[in-house]
Amino acid sequence: MALDTSIAVSQENPFEIAQHQFDIAADMLNLQQDLRDTLRSCMRELIVSFPVGMDDGSVRVLRGYRIQHNIARGPAKGGIRYSPNVSLDEVRALSMWMTWKCAVVNIPFGGAKGGVICDPKSMSIGELERLTRRYTTEISILIGPEKDIPAPDMNTSPQVMAWIMDTYSMHVGYSVPAVVTGKPLSIGGSEGRTEATGRGCLFTIRQALKHLGLQIQKCTAAVQGFGNVGATAASLLHLDGCKVVALSDSRGGIYNPAGIDPRQVVRFKAETGSVVGFPGTKPVSNAELLELPCDILVPAAMESQITSVNAGRIKAKIVAEGANGPVTPDADRKLIEKGIFVIPDILANAGGVTVSYFEWVQDLQSFFWSEEEINARLERIINRAFQDTLAMSTSRSVDMRTAAYLLAVSRVAEATRVRGRYP
Ligand code: GLU
Repeated sequence: MALDTSIAVSQENPFEIAQHQFDIAADMLNLQQDLRDTLRSCMRELIVSFPVGMDDGSVRVLRGYRIQHNIARGPAKGGIRYSPNVSLDEVRALSMWMTWKCAVVNIPFGGAKGGVICDPKSMSIGELERLTRRYTTEISILIGPEKDIPAPDMNTSPQVMAWIMDTYSMHVGYSVPAVVTGKPLSIGGSEGRTEATGRGCLFTIRQALKHLGLQIQKCTAAVQGFGNVGATAASLLHLDGCKVVALSDSRGGIYNPAGIDPRQVVRFKAETGSVVGFPGTKPVSNAELLELPCDILVPAAMESQITSVNAGRIKAKIVAEGANGPVTPDADRKLIEKGIFVIPDILANAGGVTVSYFEWVQDLQSFFWSEEEINARLERIINRAFQDTLAMSTSRSVDMRTAAYLLAVSRVAEATRVRGRYP
């Protein structure tokens, strides 16, 4: 099905994009108006302003958000990002995407997201800790192991999760590991959580290749973004025998048509701070990377990277959305017209929240599983979600994104319907 072009959708505002994607599914599902109005908006939005003491003795007042989109299927779940570009509408979109993501993989969570407008790369470790502890205090009226469980997202790490866990635990007077996921192993983190998003992405790519009759050993890949998701996805693709020809981070990209070993680039970046300058590669920009000849393109950096401007020049056969919202609706339509198989974000990057679910379950039971068990359970869940989405795409003759939305929205709608309206 071609997307509806009669509606003017903002190609920049992420929340309008998220609502547009939802509307397509809501129309096809004939959702009744009240349910549509409910699911189109976020149920709770908390805006906080708080002071942080800087190392030079000055005090900066920062703005942060924690937004819960929906909790019909379980507690709210979603990451926290630190970035100068965080905005209310971005966090709204990301929280809505979390609701659909948890529903597509059928784990019992709703959707949430948080963010702080700051420049974490220019802050010291002490400043980051004070920021995190005060932000946690400000949002502590919302979060909790039964209510809303944060996790890492852009520029937040297991260490940041440890500070959140500690701050929350200090407030209540006892340790609450299950208040946050993506923690270090030593305080109740899960095996396999760090690699989970990239690993889940690989599982969806394997499924897509099988569906398209392609062999991974004969494929090339380009990966935009070398954070947790991009670096892991690239390394795992390489280990599967795929030739990784291009990588990038916020400072720029590298290209070698003969192939790059991403694990060596991980070490190089740890020493130099960037992938740029890795020996034997040619420099490319982040925009150029997207248009390189390759079979598999993994945009794993940030929103709105593939737009109507560059979509026509994408050469990959498969686009696996490691990031949230990397393809705008206009671009989506162009990629579909070109016959490119797009694995939507709410499926392609759902591995992270799936292992977050395992972490939460392990914390609540104080009973921990092996990495093999985690990875095997992750693979089962992701493969099942992929096959459910593919079956929906075939039966309704729609692209994979619309199919994933049909699955997700109908699951959330059914949970809402059966719970009934309060009061
Ligand atoms: N931030 C990740 C995402 O966007 C993980 C969220 C989580 O584990 O709760 O899916």
